[in-house]
Amino acid sequence: MDIIDVECPVCEIITEHEILRNENNLVVKCMECGRVQTLQKPKEPALTSVKAIVSKENQSFVCRSEMYCTERVAVGDHIVAECDDENAFGVEIMSIECGPKRVTAAQADEIDTLWTRSIDEVVVRFSVHKGHKTIPLYLVCEGNTRFYVGEQYEINGIKCKIHHIKLRNGSICKRIGKYEPALTIKRVYAYVGASKTDKNKYNRRVGVW
Ligand SMILES: [Zn+2]
Repeated sequence: MDIIDVECPVCEIITEHEILRNENNLVVKCMECGRVQTLQKPKEPALTSVKAIVSKENQSFVCRSEMYCTERVAVGDHIVAECDDENAFGVEIMSIECGPKRVTAAQADEIDTLWTRSIDEVVVRFSVHKGHKTIPLYLVCEGNTRFYVGEQYEINGIKCKIHHIKLRNGSICKRIGKYEPALTIKRVYAYVGASKTDKNKYNRRVGVW
């Protein structure tokens, strides 16, 4: 049985749905209430890995930064640079190299090298889903800041609710109410807005940034 997590219009939350038919569209059935709905196939945008030189205390490291191909970044942005499976730096973009040119902003798939400097804070990557669109967002915080599944957060003015958290060790945290510290997080998956039923429950959280 193939299962997908989507929002159920009856339950008004994201629930597990059994995929009944997988052709041009998906026909799915809510495993909580049995409601059947037809969906467009979700399109996760393609990812690319951009070379990022990180300077940290007189040393420099060759790292990579995973981004959506169409994502735009600019000098001054805070992003994540991964140096190996274990180590990732929060970095600030100092310069962007596209072919022979240095530019102040570019789309990820046009970038040859990002020149960055490490910052003390951790940068947490969010993939925020809005309908069939995915918005990449970054949040700068302390390494021990906790991120709770099911809680609502506001990043750059966009309110979203955490659906699940992918960890650096490859596991996925999806139980509502569970938290992970920023340092261990590979990527947070969230949805724009909160459903009617749990709005009051989740609005109480006040961000620390
Ligand atoms: Zn349902």
